[in-house]
Amino acid sequence: MNIGHESVSEAPEVREISKSQLIRDFKKIGAKEGDCLGVALSFRSVGRVEGGPDAFIDALLDTIGPDGTLMMNSYTRFYQVPQIKSPRKGRIFDYRSTPTWTGLVPETFRKRPGTIRSRHPLSSIAATGKLAAYLTKGHDETASSYSPYSRLAKIDGKMLYIGLGNDLVSMRHEAQSLAGLLDVVPLEVGIYYQDGKGELKLFKSKDTYACIKKLKDFVPIIKNLGLVNDGMIGDAPSMLVPVRETLNAMTKLLKEDPTLNLCDNVTCIWCRELERRLNLYNTIRNPALFQRNRLAISLIALVNKHRLKGRHRGAYPIFKTIDLLDKVL
Ligand SMILES: [Zn+2]
Repeated sequence: MNIGHESVSEAPEVREISKSQLIRDFKKIGAKEGDCLGVALSFRSVGRVEGGPDAFIDALLDTIGPDGTLMMNSYTRFYQVPQIKSPRKGRIFDYRSTPTWTGLVPETFRKRPGTIRSRHPLSSIAATGKLAAYLTKGHDETASSYSPYSRLAKIDGKMLYIGLGNDLVSMRHEAQSLAGLLDVVPLEVGIYYQDGKGELKLFKSKDTYACIKKLKDFVPIIKNLGLVNDGMIGDAPSMLVPVRETLNAMTKLLKEDPTLNLCDNVTCIWCRELERRLNLYNTIRNPALFQRNRLAISLIALVNKHRLKGRHRGAYPIFKTIDLLDKVL
């Protein structure tokens, strides 16, 4: 008896998801012909797609048709500015060739003929179709990091989030930006890049990185506003939202109450600096010890001042001290 052979023949067949099934799923969740559609996804959670990323992209393009526009982010790696010493091979952004870290589908999409990629050194986007030029134009080193999402809002675009849980990626950062929070903490990140004249320059950005842990909590709120279409794309629970209304709702929430952005991690430099710089302490509901004890607040401010300069030594003992205070006080 050949046990090995038997176990292979008895293995459950892996269902492949066809392009036509994907098109049905895209339509069912609310994507239509002529749509301006932004897509962010975990490709793995969709299941095994027959034809891989290319078939997946083809299915999206077939759904929105020749009058549609497809957009994905094609972000690239960044480094904390104090730690960037000199231009190093593999760490120089070139919008024509630098791969995106946002996944196999965006990377495949970026490389396709006809796809336009914007020139922002960290938060570039890739787009194809009728309004691709509008979405990418001017999004370079001088532009605000997530501004293409405001453009997507202007043209009544939709965002399709596939298998990402409650993470409204990218749009949440644009909401932080519109609410005036994104550049409050001068946590500079950057990379070397070649500018339009071919000159090598260091790009520094204060509006790329921000803490987003708490922004998942916005999803139930926008669901209550009736803005979310839930559905499945392959095996992945997914959401389709109108960008204009969703961005407006998230921005309004953050503007009215910036404390909604604050996570509860004492070591989160972004949230702890945001609450200090905007002096939010008196408006925080159920503040943690490190948000209500003056000594703890001063200690954190001191250690974060150094961390913002790229110096991390001494941070650990101070956070230990705050933990200790938490037990004593
Ligand atoms: Zn945080």
